[in-house]
Amino acid sequence: MITHTGGCHCGRVRFEVVAPAHLEVSDCNCSICSKTGYLHLIVPAARFRLLRGAEALTTYTFNTGTARHLFCSVCGIKSFYVPRSHPDGFSVNARCLDEGTVTGMTVAPFDGRDWERQLPEGRAQWLEASEQQEVS
Ligand SMILES: [Zn+2]
Repeated sequence: MITHTGGCHCGRVRFEVVAPAHLEVSDCNCSICSKTGYLHLIVPAARFRLLRGAEALTTYTFNTGTARHLFCSVCGIKSFYVPRSHPDGFSVNARCLDEGTVTGMTVAPFDGRDWERQLPEGRAQWLEASEQQEVS
């Protein structure tokens, strides 16, 4: 586990996230992710820290309202947000990480268009025991 940094395009929003150097990310085909090309790095809340820019963030919600899509109000980039699948954690856009710390990415497709069939309980569970400890 290492600390990656990233942020929006204009630099107002900056964060750090603890994750492996080789990232496991998901490429979701839902109505909003497919339009933005968002690559999800989903982490427990304890592994994400907003360094600056909270005042620049604006929130967009739709459908169930569970996901809180957070955009920089100046440059429009969604560099991270609170995902419907893990409302107690964060999804970081792997495309918004700074260069230099990511050694590679494994991209897995996620069929967010058919949400109810993918996640009949409405959300996903944390897979790794270590992650469960960190969020408990
Ligand atoms: Zn910005």
